[in-house]
Amino acid sequence: MEDKGIPKEQIYQLLRKYKEKDLTHRSGRILGSMCTCPHPVGIKAYYMFLESNLGDPGLFPGTKALENEVIAMLGEILGKRDVYGHIITGGTEANLMAMRAARNLSKVKHPEIIVPKSAHFSFKKAADMLCLNLKMADLDEEYRMDISSVEDLISNKTVAIVGVAGTTELGKIDPIEELSRICLEKDIYFHVDAAFGGYSIPFLKEAGYKLPEFDFSLPGVSSMTIDPHKMGLAPIPTGGILFRECKYLEAIAVETPYLTEDLQSTVVGTRTGAATAATWALLKHLGREGYREIAKKCMEITSILAEGVQKAGFELITQPELNIVAFRSSKIPVEEIARRLKEKGWAVSLASYPRAIRIIVMPHLKLEHVEAFIEDLNRI
Ligand SMILES: *Cc1c(COP(=O)(O)O)cnc(C)c1O
Repeated sequence: MEDKGIPKEQIYQLLRKYKEKDLTHRSGRILGSMCTCPHPVGIKAYYMFLESNLGDPGLFPGTKALENEVIAMLGEILGKRDVYGHIITGGTEANLMAMRAARNLSKVKHPEIIVPKSAHFSFKKAADMLCLNLKMADLDEEYRMDISSVEDLISNKTVAIVGVAGTTELGKIDPIEELSRICLEKDIYFHVDAAFGGYSIPFLKEAGYKLPEFDFSLPGVSSMTIDPHKMGLAPIPTGGILFRECKYLEAIAVETPYLTEDLQSTVVGTRTGAATAATWALLKHLGREGYREIAKKCMEITSILAEGVQKAGFELITQPELNIVAFRSSKIPVEEIARRLKEKGWAVSLASYPRAIRIIVMPHLKLEHVEAFIEDLNRI
């Protein structure tokens, strides 16, 4: 570190050199990420609230009011307007909070949670941090959580069951309705991880897509994760956690002696209000219609991509349910396909189960990008 500061113009110049090394979503080359170009209205709102700290909401009552409105709007999207929750850093923190609430409310020794094999790795972190035994349920032939496997794993130590609405690798929706029924019957906490699907499933349904029930309209659902920084187009870091009842937030609250609020339930202390402002601005600006159009457009491009992949001689792992296409080849190993695509400038990602090339058709992927990609795939 220099003793004498560097003039700001020189600083920006230096920063641009680093920035040039990064990929951009705008280039259409990032095919394997659930993030996307943040919407300009969200960016403007984010800037406006950069100094706001929701960890100390008494100082920022305006931002706190925005958070209350955002939670109600997200709840409305997910089938229940009067929910309790927070805007946090992302799906990982949301899942951690949900598992903590489930564990704290149970009085069980050596608690266990049941997640599908397709669950996001954040549940491994949660299990480790919260000393939970992680039980993985098998998947059925469509890569959805297998109900009979779940039933086999349930014991008197089960404190939570997790279903995923839009799996990270394949975009599959677990049988949430059946899981809700089982959890209600057995009085088990039921968390639905809709980090990815939460901003698309409801809007695709409105647009006429046939998709299953997955949200608070099912009475067994205790909490839900929804990530505005994925299909919600909000800047990173923006996550959402919603609880059906206030008692779940209370179960994870600790006293905060020196702050303007008495209790705090989030994992992080100092917490940006900018993410909340951006989410609020986008929900209001885009409206249902805006999000419906975005979700629909992504699905249309997904269909074109899925068809192109098959015509190029590759095999789809499963028919896309949401905007994710996963494929492999009987002739070339997936690592080799990924390597050759990388040579041509495409950043794809690999699914672990089953091994496959995984492409998430996020809003920054336009038809021209997908057409250029299919051309390169044909050359491979
Ligand atoms: C992305 C994702 C997460 C993790 O979210 P982060 O925002 O990366 O922490 C959790 N669950 C699912 C289903 C996801 O797709």
